Amino acid sequence: MNCSTCGSEKGPFFNTMDLSKGQMQHICPSCIVKTLMDNPSRSDIHKLDQDIEEAMETQKSLQQIIDEHKGELDKYKDDPIMQFAFTPESSAALNNSFLIEMQEKKNTLLAAMPEKERLEYQLMQSLKSEDYESATEIREKLKETQ
Ligand SMILES: [Zn+2]
Repeated sequence: MNCSTCGSEKGPFFNTMDLSKGQMQHICPSCIVKTLMDNPSRSDIHKLDQDIEEAMETQKSLQQIIDEHKGELDKYKDDPIMQFAFTPESSAALNNSFLIEMQEKKNTLLAAMPEKERLEYQLMQSLKSEDYESATEIREKLKETQ
């Protein structure tokens, strides 16, 4: 089986019906992540922070399920049906690549920000995490930019 979009053989595939063609589409994990990233809200750093936080929570719960059910799906390892199966492991892998993409996007956004705006953002972040030492440093830098 191949991804209908990029041709990759690496599943598990998300199966969806293309109504315009009346055909089944198989979408690979990396194309799913691309689709998830292809959203205007991904350019909003605050929305991105929220989504990163949520994805980290999801990752934690998936990891818990993986730990609790370790080895239970091993007998299906070589079964072709697994190409279609979203197991806790494959869901965690998918969520993790989504997380990495969002973090990369965040770094890109930060790098493109004007210095003052970036410092203000970092100040807000350090206050949120109650890191007052960093907050003081950033405030000093902000004063220098004015
Ligand atoms: Zn693909």
